[in-house]
Amino acid sequence: MRTPVMAGNWKMFKNVAETNAFFEKFKPLVASTTGREIVICPPFVDLPVAAWAARDSNIDIGGQNCYWENEGAFTGEISPSMLAGAGAKWVIIAHSERRQFFGETDETAHKRIVAALAAGLKPIVCVGELLADREAGNTNSVLDRQFRGGIAGLSSDQFANIVIAYEPVWAIGTGKTATPQIAAEAHAFIRGLARTKFGPQAADALRILYGGSVKPENAKELMAQEEIDGVLVGGASLKPDGFASIVNY
Ligand code: PEP
Repeated sequence: MRTPVMAGNWKMFKNVAETNAFFEKFKPLVASTTGREIVICPPFVDLPVAAWAARDSNIDIGGQNCYWENEGAFTGEISPSMLAGAGAKWVIIAHSERRQFFGETDETAHKRIVAALAAGLKPIVCVGELLADREAGNTNSVLDRQFRGGIAGLSSDQFANIVIAYEPVWAIGTGKTATPQIAAEAHAFIRGLARTKFGPQAADALRILYGGSVKPENAKELMAQEEIDGVLVGGASLKPDGFASIVNY
């Protein structure tokens, strides 16, 4: 039995005051929710206030990225131990926007995952194909490449502590959701990669989240798929009532 992870990625939205206002509304809406992990990933500057607002609740806080060194002359970067010190328990790694706009690769994803795990964070590692990849019939080969480059080099212990988010790039922020069947097929393929590399037990325990235009209206149908172990939600995680109804699908 895999405990679902319901994670929100705020991207570059909300300042400190807006973060406080969100938690004031959101907390009571999920206060009695059990049987799933709830994670909010705000911008870096909002982390301490989010962690404080979520103290003594069933909500975890996560970063949206981290560098792979712990400290040093890396202007503008944030280390995994800094995230942990600010109250984060999770971190999103290699989101498609990081890959697309900031040149991140499978190789840098791997370094970030290793560093995040060493700092005690739980990485949510994003994979997913572009529309052109899907149309060319290359979805599985893209997922295979991303898995081999970013994830396959982990030890079994490291692998046991990551979560994978399948996010087809054509479904992110576009309003186009992958059908539950399309998502489930991709998840099954990723679980197959995990089985081949890390064995059946590790593959069965792996949580694979779906991300891409998840909304209150489609969360239940997606979560009904046996292969879908949670969601990574962008736009719809910004509204307390909308994200609460996704969490409580
Ligand atoms: C995301 O940012 O990971 C995401 C899936 O965005 P959206 O839900 O807005 O498509």
